[in-house]
Amino acid sequence: MPRLIADRPVLHMTSELGRIMAAAKAREVAGERILHMERGEPDFDTPPHIVEALAKAARDGYTHYPDQRGERSLREALVEKLARENGITAQVDDLVVTAGGTHGLFLAMQGLLSAGDEVLVLSPHWMAIPKLVGFAAGASYRTLPVYLELLEGSWTPAEFATRLRAALKPETKGIYLNTPNNPTGAVVSREHLVALAEVAIERDLWVISDEAYEHLVYDGAKHVSLASLPGMAERTLSVFTFSKSYAMTGWRVGYVVAPPAMRGVLGPLLAFYTTHGVFPAAQIAALAAVTGSQGCVATMRDAYNQRRRLLLDGLAGGSAVWAPEPKGAFYAFANVATARGERDLWAMADEWLGFGVAALPGTAFGPEYGDWVRLSLATRADDVAEAAKRIAQHAGAGARA
Ligand code: PMP
Repeated sequence: MPRLIADRPVLHMTSELGRIMAAAKAREVAGERILHMERGEPDFDTPPHIVEALAKAARDGYTHYPDQRGERSLREALVEKLARENGITAQVDDLVVTAGGTHGLFLAMQGLLSAGDEVLVLSPHWMAIPKLVGFAAGASYRTLPVYLELLEGSWTPAEFATRLRAALKPETKGIYLNTPNNPTGAVVSREHLVALAEVAIERDLWVISDEAYEHLVYDGAKHVSLASLPGMAERTLSVFTFSKSYAMTGWRVGYVVAPPAMRGVLGPLLAFYTTHGVFPAAQIAALAAVTGSQGCVATMRDAYNQRRRLLLDGLAGGSAVWAPEPKGAFYAFANVATARGERDLWAMADEWLGFGVAALPGTAFGPEYGDWVRLSLATRADDVAEAAKRIAQHAGAGARA
């Protein structure tokens, strides 16, 4: 009998988000109303001026094979944006336009990792990371929990550096960093990034810096790009996306900024792993997003911030479920140790579905997070407030575990 299905483990990893969404859907089909706190996708439509730019670009003939590294006009505008907003100095050829941030991360892993290499993944981490490493044949990863500690201010920069040093092994080729962080909402401070940079330089490591939520920071928190720190541009692959900032998840446009040493690698990888790049008209629309008014970004950020307050206020006041206050992205990572009790986390998630709240079990973000769930703010304000109320009611009272 032929073996029909490839047996690479990465092809057989299951998705916890898929599991909770399917369970929520089944209840909706049965007529129940579910408050969707599990999904990580902006609920806003793409701003109209970006949609118009797509239509015009398609009419203007941006319908042919794209430039091998991405539309030059977009890359030029991004070079300016990187200098202005991120403090990153790059040449047009140091940038490739990718099919979203996921694809940027994929190319970064493919470009960096050989068999036997390891990535130290700071955690809790976005759930696609194990798969993205897994597709780099023979590479592996280990996690180092850091974001809850950083969010709660438990570590000085020196302590952070000590933890990083202790976690490194000879085979560690690089670190995966994600700030603002999905799922905790931690925004890593400049001082902590300087500490990370010190370790990376000392141990000659690469860093893949995932900045998908760069524009979503609250309470005066500042997003700092690692590659802007001295000595880091030459060892950092910075990954950006239009998905979250401009509510463009379906458009699949993002970009990677890499040091010149990667030029010969990222271009060919891009060409063959996307069958020749991103739809040019979508790239011209992305150009309109980055050069047009940034008012839409601020409007969406304000809405997420309002929902953040609703969620935190709803859970406050002695509820057994508590969340460290997120400073960025659009999630809260909530502790359910008391609410879960002796039960399996999935049993609790099912019970929550029973009172109409879909939440993503924390184990999606690393095996250490069996006492946590991610609650997304990318859902209507009324639903966020209602979900917080129901969680607080059903979970009962309880001290912070
Ligand atoms: N990085 C992080 C941390 C994310 O949460 C996401 C999307 N959820 C991405 C990257 C990639 O998003 P996209 O591929 O839509 O750009």
